[in-house]
Amino acid sequence: MTEGETPLKRSLALRIRARGPLSLAEYMAAALGDPVYGYYLTRDPLGVAGDFTTAPEISQMFGEVVGLWLADQASTLPRGAPVVEFGPGRGTMMADARRAAPALRERPLWFVETSTVLRAAQARAVPEARWIDSLHALPEGPMVLVANEYLDALPIRQYLADGSAWREVQVGLGQPCDDGSAPLVFGLSGPLRGVESGAGPPVEGAWVEVSAAADAAIDETARRIAAYGGAALYIDYGFRATERPAGPTLQALQAHRRADPLASPGEADLTWLPDFDALAARVRDVPGATAYLAPQGAFLAEMGIGQRAAALAAARPKEAHAIADALERLTMAAAMGSRFKVLAILPADAAHPPGFAGSPTPGSGQDETAIAGTDASVPGRSFGGPRE
Ligand code: SAH
Repeated sequence: MTEGETPLKRSLALRIRARGPLSLAEYMAAALGDPVYGYYLTRDPLGVAGDFTTAPEISQMFGEVVGLWLADQASTLPRGAPVVEFGPGRGTMMADARRAAPALRERPLWFVETSTVLRAAQARAVPEARWIDSLHALPEGPMVLVANEYLDALPIRQYLADGSAWREVQVGLGQPCDDGSAPLVFGLSGPLRGVESGAGPPVEGAWVEVSAAADAAIDETARRIAAYGGAALYIDYGFRATERPAGPTLQALQAHRRADPLASPGEADLTWLPDFDALAARVRDVPGATAYLAPQGAFLAEMGIGQRAAALAAARPKEAHAIADALERLTMAAAMGSRFKVLAILPADAAHPPGFAGSPTPGSGQDETAIAGTDASVPGRSFGGPRE
């Protein structure tokens, strides 16, 4: 077995020998979601000892502020309307949200999670949670939904243009090593007649990433909210149309460092950057649904994270430094404040939601790219006491 050879790599190599190269989506689905060897099914990847740290794991303030937004949106919904979370990780965000916003605790709570390891952590953090495999398992009706760093864990297909045609990125086998095993390598399909809509002409260097799973989650969320009411927040590291990266965004992370995405499938996290303007456009294509966008820093600031940090620091003076650091990491443009985006999905006739002051009311004809900065001095609402 060559260095970095994993059981999953051997089984993928057999699959490629038998049936030819995999699409990137097939590779990612196996690397992240294989029921036995998949990355998310074999470990808790979060935190200092893991491969990456997420906003809820940085500070309780993140989940608390998100909880206030959800409770505010849920306040007009019927009593039985549930709270739903996609990819809850350790359950930290929902535990913090429910402590800060007790009204959320009166509603049914559904988690959508594939990992048995993380389901166990979620059950410890929020004993009242129950699990479903997808939104389709929930009866039709209003809901509030939240997902942090979920979309970027879903498989994508990747297309590159060579100047005359689009080609799909595939995962195949390279030259065999001395022991007969062959490394996984990226390759390109033959020229394609067309790719997904919106890809444009195959100008040299153009690229597109398409996640059928992410699109389906957004479409189903928007359809339900348009039909029955409610609200959703999708938060992720991603880009606006004006910030589109020069090249494709797939990356692997292992122990907080960049890794080779093909070196050890099942052992490294694979992520990509969603295009938030494309997601918002999908929402607005659903009759009766609308979308708002904000950088994470602006959203958190407007929702009062600055006041929350001050209250926490006053209650726990010894932690004041750590609280200030966390506030900075979550809100400042140079940290997560502008790279992470917040997409809200609401019924088209709903009032302009809090947290999105810089996002014009869709259809108002204002400049859609004019979004608020990340100045943490934006006034917000104060709330709650410190965690006991
Ligand atoms: N929201 C958490 C965890 C983010 S990591 C936080 O912010 O800390 C991504 C989460 O999505 C994990 O819980 C992972 O197990 C889950 N996940 C990944 N792919 C999934 C899928 N296809 N269906 C449901 N959950 C998935």
